[in-house]
Amino acid sequence: MMNRFEEFTTRIVQQVGKKEGPVSPVMVNSASFGYGSSETGEGIFDGSVKKPLYARVGNPTSAQLEQILASMDGGIGAVAASSGMGATAMATLSLLRAGDEIISIGGLFGGTYSYFTETLVRFGITTHFFDVDALEDIEQAINTATKIIFLESVGNPNMRLPDISKIAEIANRYGVVLMVDNTITPLSVAPIALGADIVVYSTTKIITGNASALGGAVIFRAIAEGEDKFKTERYRDLHPFIKKMGPMALIANAKKRALRDFGMSANGFGSYLTMLGLETLPLRMDRIVTSVETVAHALNAKGLTVNHPCLAHHPHHERYTSQFSNGCGTLLTIDMGSKERAFEFLNRSHLITITANIGDSRTLGLHMASTIYRDFDDATREFLGITPGLIRISIGLESAEAIVADFINAANL
Ligand SMILES: *Cc1c(COP(=O)(O)O)cnc(C)c1O
Repeated sequence: MMNRFEEFTTRIVQQVGKKEGPVSPVMVNSASFGYGSSETGEGIFDGSVKKPLYARVGNPTSAQLEQILASMDGGIGAVAASSGMGATAMATLSLLRAGDEIISIGGLFGGTYSYFTETLVRFGITTHFFDVDALEDIEQAINTATKIIFLESVGNPNMRLPDISKIAEIANRYGVVLMVDNTITPLSVAPIALGADIVVYSTTKIITGNASALGGAVIFRAIAEGEDKFKTERYRDLHPFIKKMGPMALIANAKKRALRDFGMSANGFGSYLTMLGLETLPLRMDRIVTSVETVAHALNAKGLTVNHPCLAHHPHHERYTSQFSNGCGTLLTIDMGSKERAFEFLNRSHLITITANIGDSRTLGLHMASTIYRDFDDATREFLGITPGLIRISIGLESAEAIVADFINAANL
């Protein structure tokens, strides 16, 4: 597979900077926009005039970010959101109604898990959970109420890797939408090229990369001219948008059904900061996916219980080498055996910033069971792979040798 970091390092810097006028993206923070005349106002509202209407449904700075992210993933368009959870809510709520079902595969980010199990159930939407390799069970769970197959590109924090093409083949065979949360692997994994329909990001993580802005985005593929799963009875709520907007229907649907009515909209300042981060995304990803492997191998050789698919004993090692040739993001986990030893490791490290974030310039770490997963029962923790001594590490831009030395010292080896 082509090295996608090399391909995108040129494209993204050229898309963020302008050749004429201000080179840095122009930041527009106005909440409202004057129309100039009533006729123009009417045109903006009926869609015939392409000018800003109101910041909840679109912002010019966010629009530039949306274009770049859409081209990064081969989508026809994107809609920026206030956060990654805002993006997940937008992508799902714009397609769901009471009585619908979701099939959730692998993962799963704690916020998404509680959104499915605690919040969507209150609105009559049921989610069924499966491991990435339970393909037969997944097929059997699909029925006429199934609207979304939701997949995380890398299990966070279980580090299991899905066979995305194979799952996309199932989704397409049954005519069900495949939505991929690609937060951990932007550029490394190209979900739409692998057969997915919708890609969800928390841009808060590696895309911005420095904890300066909370944000998210959803990338949508075009509706096809001829046959398309969205034109079937399963997605009948979308049909008026397809009639009016053709290939752009999913964008219009998300803007009306989610942004306008729920308001999980991005703001200009956040989108500006996100673009500044995005500019160096290929460089940071390239460096970090190499460092993650160096650190995983070094700690594994020292006898620590490390979980990363670059290690030969990992159940998805073969899949990692064949399908994840651009790496699988910034994460690895270490099981220290007990909460006490995990706390000691984190407190002794000089490099680790202890925080719930991932994908930062700095190396971050967090004990899982006492933080993000503290409210979950034992059975759920076991399903999600949360053992008592589990630490999630997000490798940063520091030298890999410095990280290894610090970790070996922190582990008292
Ligand atoms: C952080 C994260 C989210 C949620 O993003 P926020 O920007 O924190 O709302 C969703 N999915 C994954 C995989 C994440 O890591």
